[in-house]
Amino acid sequence: MSPAPSTAAAADPRPSLEALDRAAAPPVLHLEGLGAPVRVASLELLRTGRHFLVRARSTDGAEAVIVPNEDRMHDVYPVFLNRVAPFFVGKDARDLERLLEEVYREGSNYKFQGLALWVPVAAVEFALLELLGQTARRPVTDLLGGARRRDIAIYQASGNRGNTPAQEIEYLRKIVAESGARALKFRLGGRMSKNADSLPGRTETLIPLARETFGPEMTLLADANSSYDVPKGIEIGKLMEQHQYGFYEEPVPFDHLDETKQVADALRIPVAWGEQEFSMWGFRWMIHHRGMDIVQPDLHYFGGLIRSTRVARMAAEAGLTCTLHMGGTGLGYLDALHFMACVPNPYAFQEYKGPSGLPVACVTSSLQPRDGVVRVPSGPGFGYTLDPEFVKQAKPM
Ligand SMILES: [Mg+2]
Repeated sequence: MSPAPSTAAAADPRPSLEALDRAAAPPVLHLEGLGAPVRVASLELLRTGRHFLVRARSTDGAEAVIVPNEDRMHDVYPVFLNRVAPFFVGKDARDLERLLEEVYREGSNYKFQGLALWVPVAAVEFALLELLGQTARRPVTDLLGGARRRDIAIYQASGNRGNTPAQEIEYLRKIVAESGARALKFRLGGRMSKNADSLPGRTETLIPLARETFGPEMTLLADANSSYDVPKGIEIGKLMEQHQYGFYEEPVPFDHLDETKQVADALRIPVAWGEQEFSMWGFRWMIHHRGMDIVQPDLHYFGGLIRSTRVARMAAEAGLTCTLHMGGTGLGYLDALHFMACVPNPYAFQEYKGPSGLPVACVTSSLQPRDGVVRVPSGPGFGYTLDPEFVKQAKPM
């Protein structure tokens, strides 16, 4: 008798690495209507006080001003000035996808992989997408293949640790009341703390208390920020399962890839992961091995919308969902809306960290949540305008 066909493939529904590569590979940008080169005449980093802006100009006189990740730019701006921006000057912005590959290799920039490289690259990517959008008079969502949705349901996250469970519940009530969000996230454990809690017993009290307080309709999410080892991570995850939580973020140290997978394998609750992953290959490995259930690239930390789209595509191929991590400053919450409008496989909620306090005007969206939903801007580029007076105050570095 001939042996039965191998059941290994049938028992393991994970897509092959080749299938992930095929999913990620097609061009992300749709450049219809951009028949002529959009030559980059200049790329400047501007600063006013603690704020950074990036201004791109084309040789045809188009101008784009965007907000990079301000907090991180404080520390990494020399990489922007010395290594990243000069590479793009003189190039055709329509070649952005290819240029993103090349800038990684240029001058051994890959040695800087991490926030140091990708925050500046993302800043350039955003500026050039804005330049392309302004030139074509089309929204960034069109450049990314078209918006699949215009309204994004948001969740609000608490950044607190170390307060009492009662104080945290009070805070969560407040932020949910302000936005009408139907999902919220709070912090577990002690952050990179080898199982120590920020306050003894806080986590074990807060998990059931939040459910009791907000009722069965609220989607509850929680972030351990790498607090646990595998056994403790599983124990906390099971407590979240008992109380029907939506996802469990970064249970164990973020770069413990196999340990993250061990926790994900042991739990029914989806594990979310990816905010400190800087390598496309790292995401590919984790998606292939199903090391997590929800991928969470950060648009700025990971180098922009195009790279993050490829991660979302690989996740979709594996039947996983995507929601972005949100670095706190600037207009990251608006950048995230454009991305989440376009991905094929969004998680039900996207984190919202607006408004920013920056003087920004938008005619197609209030940029604020109403009943827990924010409208994606639909004007040219990213669809917002920074106050020209504010931009004028910002000086080139
Ligand atoms: Mg997190």
